[in-house]
Amino acid sequence: MSLIGEDGKREDGRALDELRPIKIEVGVLHNADGSAYVEWGKNKVLAAVYGPKEMYNKYLQDPTGAVVQVNYNMAAFSVDDRVRPGPSRRSIEISKIIGEALERVIMREDFPRASIDVFIEVLEASAGTRCAGLTAASVAVADAGIPMRDLVASCAAGKADGHIILDLGKGEDNLGQADLPVGYVPGTGEITLLQMDGHMTREEFDSALKLAIGACEEIHDIQKRALKHRYAIHKGGEGQ
Ligand code: UDP
Repeated sequence: MSLIGEDGKREDGRALDELRPIKIEVGVLHNADGSAYVEWGKNKVLAAVYGPKEMYNKYLQDPTGAVVQVNYNMAAFSVDDRVRPGPSRRSIEISKIIGEALERVIMREDFPRASIDVFIEVLEASAGTRCAGLTAASVAVADAGIPMRDLVASCAAGKADGHIILDLGKGEDNLGQADLPVGYVPGTGEITLLQMDGHMTREEFDSALKLAIGACEEIHDIQKRALKHRYAIHKGGEGQ
């Protein structure tokens, strides 16, 4: 099956360097300290943040700063085949890499021995949920009022049918040649998440990384707009 048509368009009609539509809503959960909901193509992802609060397990406390504990979970109904509830190798891996990506931007040193708990619930999944999850979590941390150096934005690039493409869809993720999820902090130029599945030459890797970073800058603008929208409404007294 061909993933890229003769007209250069992809399975969902996108150009090679085109993102799926992204919508971010801030402060959607009243009982969390911070929250965000992201719709990204067919992905629907909710992030909730609690803390900073005293780390319950004293052995996990870090006297030099807060520990960011992430729990990424796919709902049983998030894909066609029911997902088995509970942690899996995959969810543990994704929780770990998202936690590490967030720790680089959160001013952990302001909260020694504390815990910042981040819950990411994937309600519907269609490739790229770790990027959508990190993008949502970053906004939710900001919504919780936790000091950060900058927001981290995330997006994947990759390769399908020999072409470098941005933001892989489901078919491209399953049948493509490479997937390169990236987490990028525009304010500092740091890459806080980088994984790769599949094969690319060094030149292909460089152009995929460049494409993903450019998209992260675009997503960073969407994150900032969503936060501004949330707080502008509240200032005007129209909030919920
Ligand atoms: N997926 C699935 N069942 C699972 C795990 C994943 O159907 O148990 C699908 C889901 O659509 C997901 C995609 O496979 O978005 C790609 O998964 P991957 O592990 O590459 O992570 P992601 O791209 O979501 O970050």
